[in-house]
Amino acid sequence: MAIDFSFPPEIEELRSKVRTFVEEIVRPAEARIAEREGDRKFLVGEIIKMREEAHKRGLWLPHMPEEYGGMGLGHVAMASVSAEAAKSGFGPFALNAQAPDEGNMHTLLHWGTEEQKEKYLEPLCKGIARSCFAMTEPEVAGSDPTLIQTRAVLDGDDWVINGHKWFISGARGAKFAILIARTEDDPEIPQAANSAFIVDLPSEGWEVVRDVATMSGSHNHCEIRIENLRVPKSRMLGGRGQGHKLGQARLGPARLAHCMRWLGQAEVAFDMMVDRSLNRFAHGSLLADKQGIQWMIADSAMELYQCKLMILHAAYKIDNKEDFRSEVSMAKHFVANSLGRIVDRAIQVHGALGYSTDTPLASMAQHARWARFADGADEVHQWRIAQRAIDAYKRDGNTKAATGGLPL
Ligand SMILES: Cc1cc2nc3c(=O)[nH]c(=O)nc-3n(C[C@H](O)[C@H](O)[C@H](O)COP(=O)(O)OP(=O)(O)OC[C@H]3O[C@@H](n4cnc5c(N)ncnc54)[C@H](O)[C@@H]3O)c2cc1C
Repeated sequence: MAIDFSFPPEIEELRSKVRTFVEEIVRPAEARIAEREGDRKFLVGEIIKMREEAHKRGLWLPHMPEEYGGMGLGHVAMASVSAEAAKSGFGPFALNAQAPDEGNMHTLLHWGTEEQKEKYLEPLCKGIARSCFAMTEPEVAGSDPTLIQTRAVLDGDDWVINGHKWFISGARGAKFAILIARTEDDPEIPQAANSAFIVDLPSEGWEVVRDVATMSGSHNHCEIRIENLRVPKSRMLGGRGQGHKLGQARLGPARLAHCMRWLGQAEVAFDMMVDRSLNRFAHGSLLADKQGIQWMIADSAMELYQCKLMILHAAYKIDNKEDFRSEVSMAKHFVANSLGRIVDRAIQVHGALGYSTDTPLASMAQHARWARFADGADEVHQWRIAQRAIDAYKRDGNTKAATGGLPL
């Protein structure tokens, strides 16, 4: 039997090292940061210390090849690392495996020229630069990148770019952006209209208008005005008209990386739910003894089990260079929704305490909300999943290929 649901010993060991790192280093640092909220100098100092410790413990840059100072892990191994790291908000950042840099690193590794890799990828890998990815625009549906209005026009050796972006995560303080803009007037297919550019930051013509405030506060998701921004030809990333392809290639693994982090968060909420049920007494028994609470616990256990299987299988498909689009779509949809449901149940079991900000659950609920539409809205994934099921049936006379292509 070729099916093996265990990690090799070295990955198990790594997973436990990440867990210990989060418990010993990241959580205490987070608590100190929370106490000194607003003290930026203190925050930066704590981050540097966390990152130095990650280096010392051999946990730095897990997703990048060794030649870039990374650990060279594939996506399956990354699932174990990211899910552990994300049990704490700063965990992925401490390892230099956070969005959007993680996705940008993969993009530069895959699409960048040697010069681009040296100038942009290497500083990201060393942790001395941050980056952002600028695709979404307020005026048109972010779900449909063929509608992008930001325009790049060739003028001598430069592209001149005009447009408007928003929700650009990490834009303030980023050393560069990967920017998607329309370059082709009459593409063969609508998906071939856009190209990607690397923009040095700060740059004349790139104005950070504001940090868009959200239901969970302001987290450096910025609105950007782009006016006559000049980008040298050599800063195009990939070829002309390949912006959509690059975005999709970036987003597949980046979506799954989100799922791994969401899994970590959902597990924290589930542990808290069970812990609370074992410590709260009402109407003659512990909450854990009540069937209504057990249903919530059982539903959460079943969902987490499905999340884990989906993430591991989609990661396995990426590692094995198989078509992973359906599996990543299904995982993205399912994990995002499970996260919301599990955190909500945990709040329910905690009662007023869950609604307070004395536990991380309230903040987790706010963050979980964006998971259902960012990086592909639920409905867009469902549309694609359904399309593939219908296509499979038409092609094969059954839907097997659309349900993971598993030997069942
Ligand atoms: C916290 C956060 C961080 C983000 N970071 C970045 C970033 O770094 N860079 C970046 O470029 N963008 C970023 N985004 C933007 C994000 O990728 C977009 O929100 C997402 O692509 C959806 O686009 P939209 O918001 O314009 O919604 P729209 O495209 O307008 O969609 C709105 C709703 O319409 C429905 N819908 C859309 N299409 C269909 C369909 N075909 N069938 C049925 N229903 C449909 C869905 O319910 C969807 O939720 C971020 C967003 C958030 C919230």
